[in-house]
Amino acid sequence: MLLPDPSPLFTGKEIQLRVNELANEIATDLNGADLVVIGLLRGCFVFTSDLVRALSEQGTAIQEVDFLVASSYGSGTESSGNVKIEKDIKIDIAGKHVLVVDDILDTGNTLQKVLQLFSSRKPAWLKTCVVLDKSERREVDIEADFSGFSIPNHFVVGYGLDYDQKYRELPYITVMRDDLSA
Ligand code: 5GP
Ligand code: MG
Repeated sequence: MLLPDPSPLFTGKEIQLRVNELANEIATDLNGADLVVIGLLRGCFVFTSDLVRALSEQGTAIQEVDFLVASSYGSGTESSGNVKIEKDIKIDIAGKHVLVVDDILDTGNTLQKVLQLFSSRKPAWLKTCVVLDKSERREVDIEADFSGFSIPNHFVVGYGLDYDQKYRELPYITVMRDDLSA
């Protein structure tokens, strides 16, 4: 049986500091422009809520927040590589400054598909921000514009990330490990 390792990879405090740094980098890049934030559900929900508040503290006005549902993982820990847009955004992004927020960049299939869709709608500025980057696993040529932490190829949970829908609420990020006591 797999369980979350009680000793975190990144503590809540470490994540908070990094989120503030990311917000600062994004605000600098925006140079005063208002921002539309689009999160990729469901894993993004914790990070998105922290990031929009950190951006606000940096003086960035958030025009709108919307969410898109894409799926590439079934249950468990393996990506299917076959990305489906299950729920599109409701807002018009043409001419706007748009930041796509995801929890983790893994194979890159999800973000690539979403970026293709959004760039066809002609935003003025389209960038991506993720908390975690597992570059070892990349299958397509894509990098996030703003990335919190690089991690090796481990399946992680917490801070919005799940294992079969569990552990999203953990305030830290940790690796799933074999339960040695079982
Ligand atoms: P990609 O399309 O880049 O392979 O997949 C990205 C999505 O896969 C992420 O948004 C996330 O939902 C899921 N994913 C990838 N790696 C992990 C991981 O280590 N833990 C969890 N919980 N989800 C992951
Ligand atoms: Mg996801």
